[in-house]
Amino acid sequence: AGKDPDKREFAIRALAEDIRLLTPIRETGQEIYINIHPGAHVGQGPDRGCSLISDGLNRVFGLEPGIMVLLETMAGKGTECGRNFEELATIIDGVDDKANVGVTVDTCHVLDAGYDLVNDFDGVMRQLDDVIGLERVKAVHVNDSQFGLSSHKDRHANIGDGNLGIPFFTRMVNDPRLSRLPMILETKELTETKHREEIALLRGLVQ
Ligand SMILES: [Zn+2]
Repeated sequence: AGKDPDKREFAIRALAEDIRLLTPIRETGQEIYINIHPGAHVGQGPDRGCSLISDGLNRVFGLEPGIMVLLETMAGKGTECGRNFEELATIIDGVDDKANVGVTVDTCHVLDAGYDLVNDFDGVMRQLDDVIGLERVKAVHVNDSQFGLSSHKDRHANIGDGNLGIPFFTRMVNDPRLSRLPMILETKELTETKHREEIALLRGLVQ
């Protein structure tokens, strides 16, 4: 979504190359996705940023179709595009082959962006469904957040150590709308066993 055409060209080529490299894995019959942060408009404004991202994705799919690109929900740090569900919907709207795009929900980013996952989980899920459509959500980045609602910080915390907390994660892993999706931790591996412990903790919350 940047201003510099050379940088945009580089991003388009790099993403197309990543898709090409993943194609042999897809050809084994595995369902795979590639996840990206949509981009930052660097002062051009969100409308221009979203439109450049859609155009870029159209170019990418012109070069290498066939693997779904997931756009991640962003915290709204700096000039990030995708800081709310509407911006992601706008980007998807501008993509010609919509079967090629999905969404990854990052729990830390969604809270940071101003969606109250702690006190209004169902309300946030409803907005996600209304604006983007739950059928487009293909993965979850499972992170607690060091900062609170609408902080726009994007600072992940270990599970249970942040502002989302265990009651939220209990809700999430037991919600049929999310519980069948791949969940990826992006928390700090403070010790060699930290991720193993966090996975066990999350599994333990399943009722
Ligand atoms: Zn993430």
